[in-house]
Amino acid sequence: MTIVWRAGIHLPILCAIPVGAATYGVASRNDVAGVAELVDAPDSKSGFFTEVGVRFPLPAPPSQDAFHHEFLLKLWRAGRKENSLVNFCSDCGASVVRKIPHGDTRHRWVCASCEIVHYQNPKIVVGCIPERDGKILLCRRAIEPRTGFWTAPAGFLEVGESIAEGAARETLEEACAEVEIGHLFASVDVVYAGQVHLFFTATLLGDFAAGEESLEVALFDIADIPWKDIAFSSNRFALEQYIADAGSNNGVHHLVIKHRSPTSPVPI
Ligand SMILES: [Zn+2]
Repeated sequence: MTIVWRAGIHLPILCAIPVGAATYGVASRNDVAGVAELVDAPDSKSGFFTEVGVRFPLPAPPSQDAFHHEFLLKLWRAGRKENSLVNFCSDCGASVVRKIPHGDTRHRWVCASCEIVHYQNPKIVVGCIPERDGKILLCRRAIEPRTGFWTAPAGFLEVGESIAEGAARETLEEACAEVEIGHLFASVDVVYAGQVHLFFTATLLGDFAAGEESLEVALFDIADIPWKDIAFSSNRFALEQYIADAGSNNGVHHLVIKHRSPTSPVPI
């Protein structure tokens, strides 16, 4: 798919973002970048379009730089709240378009050739709070986001494993530590990030060391937990609930984080 941008320049489209009733395409190549409303080509026969014309209901930006750095990025980030970028169909390699499939109610990425719908759903993050002799094992992150901050071992669930298996695997990867997983005690909906974070209690078995994604790994007394340097809000919530439970199983504590606070330094 291509879009015609401004003075008839043909550019590959990087993403399409629904805004109200219209869909806008973001295009960029070398020093040229822009946003334009996408409209079906008049000769489209399949219902999809391989080339689109554009019109400009948006006010002209004050300058190319301002357009690129402020307006485009703002629109791009607004679109990413709900939709990650999909460039090509993973089944056939053709371009995808943003549209509401027949019988659906939401915009989806749809292949312009084979018409497969590429659904995007929240991801599951699994972790645990390993404890031994009243001390909690934490990892200091060696990777973004939040490099240098402390976190309980946690990461994305893989296909083919249970959430408990995923939590144990993440602990082995990040802290080189084996754990006996206990009960699920915390669930955090990170709505704006499209993630659900799940935390188990766990008993630390044997030794530990910094894995590939950790700068260091350490056991903390409850009184010494570095609260100011905890990487994520979901981790902070899990640690708080874990300490409040004091070893009892009080079911699953649930937190919903709908929006990222603009003043918070903690991203998740
Ligand atoms: Zn396809």
